[in-house]
Amino acid sequence: MADTPTIADDKVVSIHYSLTLENGQVASSSKGGEPMAYLHGHQNIVPGLETALEGGKVGDKFKVQVAPKDGYGEARPEAVQQVPREAFPDDMELAAGMSFVTKDETGEVTPVWVVSVADDAITITLDHPLAGETLNFAVEVIEIRDAAEEELQHGHPHGPGGHDH
Ligand code: ZN
Repeated sequence: MADTPTIADDKVVSIHYSLTLENGQVASSSKGGEPMAYLHGHQNIVPGLETALEGGKVGDKFKVQVAPKDGYGEARPEAVQQVPREAFPDDMELAAGMSFVTKDETGEVTPVWVVSVADDAITITLDHPLAGETLNFAVEVIEIRDAAEEELQHGHPHGPGGHDH
């Protein structure tokens, strides 16, 4: 009898999921589209959800509530900063809700989100938009497979539901 695959490090896992916030708003969902694929043990998804999926099998359906510290982190007021408009290229379109990455001298990449845009100043934050939120996930495990060598090197899955480069 073949072993039933279970979710463990270096497995590519496809899930259908919905993410509901405490106010009832659905923040994101895979329903009606491709399942989302992620590489287990490589920080592709928030830690609280990854822990809940550990050891799971195809067909498992469950709900899990993830506290901010195991999700996108606590909201930090000091993460919000004002930046003069001149700090950005003239031709760069800026709008609330958009995100981009900055790179420091060491090459470390930091994601940044735009909070609001005024004529002379842009308000940005280093916090993920869902920082401080309690996350309510409903999950169904669709597929579990071994990762290819290239996927392990990249740290993310390729193909349907994953990266398509
Ligand atoms: Zn890749």
